[in-house]
Amino acid sequence: MAKYIGPVCRLCRREGEKLFLKGERCFSPKCAFEQRSFPPGQHGKNPGRGRRGTGRESDYARQLRAKQRARRVYGVFERQFRRYYGIALKHHGLTGLNLLQILETRLDNVVYRLGFATSRAQARLLVSHGHFIVNGRRLNVASTTLEAGDILQVRDGSRDTTYFKELGTLAETRNFPAWLARDLKNMTGTVQRLPERAEIDGNLNEQLIVEYYSR
Ligand code: SF4
Repeated sequence: MAKYIGPVCRLCRREGEKLFLKGERCFSPKCAFEQRSFPPGQHGKNPGRGRRGTGRESDYARQLRAKQRARRVYGVFERQFRRYYGIALKHHGLTGLNLLQILETRLDNVVYRLGFATSRAQARLLVSHGHFIVNGRRLNVASTTLEAGDILQVRDGSRDTTYFKELGTLAETRNFPAWLARDLKNMTGTVQRLPERAEIDGNLNEQLIVEYYSR
């Protein structure tokens, strides 16, 4: 499983906003974006034209940034993101919404949304270590997409680990969206239905992403 191993906070600085990729640290004064909100690189503080400067941003630049932002939020590489777009295109309905629903129902995202992890990166690690069972089968592929009715639970052997013992109390403070159901006592979660647009990050602009791939 390929994963991004570069500096994570740099991605927030590049997108010009906090993407909350590092869990608790993102809410602390240690957040790099709080200290250096300008773009990374030698021209970050002294931008020229374009998005970083005062010139008008081109349509292409806006489309590219919308696509990159979504990729970075969900931690997906370009090849897989493009593949998701292809699947979304074949589904009925709005391509942009289909794409967001595919991203939201990835196993690592569901684990994160249920409050079982503080970030998608941590959720991916937990999944890859085999801590979760989906519909009775142990799954360690973070990109697996779940469907309505799928039931996820923490593996029996994992419940005795310190992380999951402490998780019960911690997760109570974390909200989860209405399209999911959660039972912290039994460490389970259920996908009740696909998420609606209003239940997905409002800062994602799926229309621009569709325009980017339709060029
Ligand atoms: Fe982004 Fe979190 Fe790093 Fe802040 S701490 S820059 S929000 S990843």
